[in-house]
Amino acid sequence: MDRRNFLRTSAGAAAGLTVMSALDASSAKATPPRLLIDDVLSQKYPFTLPALGYADNAVEPAVDAQTMSIHHDKHHAAYVTNLNKALETQTALQGKTLRELLTGLATLPDGARNAVRNNGGGHANHAMFWTVLAPNGAKAPSGTLAAAIMRDFGSVAACTAALKAAGLAQFGSGWTWLVRDGGGKLTVRGSANQDTPITDGGKPIVGVDVWEHAYYLKYQNRRTDYLDAVLGALNWDTAASAYGA
Ligand code: MN
Repeated sequence: MDRRNFLRTSAGAAAGLTVMSALDASSAKATPPRLLIDDVLSQKYPFTLPALGYADNAVEPAVDAQTMSIHHDKHHAAYVTNLNKALETQTALQGKTLRELLTGLATLPDGARNAVRNNGGGHANHAMFWTVLAPNGAKAPSGTLAAAIMRDFGSVAACTAALKAAGLAQFGSGWTWLVRDGGGKLTVRGSANQDTPITDGGKPIVGVDVWEHAYYLKYQNRRTDYLDAVLGALNWDTAASAYGA
């Protein structure tokens, strides 16, 4: 059974039938998917945890349901809670969007900068992760994004290999990213902790969490197996929407 049939079958067996139908590949092609990352970057204080938008088991076997549930409901939620705590007394920052906070980190007061860097970054980065894990998307890039990947990496395989290498090279907690710079060029890079390419003016196209909490329950210490599975499960439709024209 391929993944799409697996998802339809499991969706029919679970309560998530309505959600899964709404995310069906045929409707996704007619209407470009709305990106969770864009919603979250537009948020202002008080920030809120967005719904995942799909069932906890929708990305199995790459991401098991228990990891997905804890990761979204506990880890991501904690970044949102702590970001709100950090801004509780920073009234001058409460009117700023998350994008403005992250791109303006250097200008923030000393009492808020690190908390916004860590928790604001965590909020945005996880929204990006959920965006590119959304089920039922294209298995390979197409259109403008595919052309840009060919131009800058030579092949899709070389691009995903670079994402994997950056994820493996990230010592300790962090992320691996496919980023569009201001000129449209694509690069792969890692980041530590919850640092985000958004702060440096980059536009994340793909972001994969390599903190141990993202994979330890299923993969234990095997980050390489986790990266193979997740990079093989990416939704290239949402990545293409993030890339834009
Ligand atoms: Mn995480």
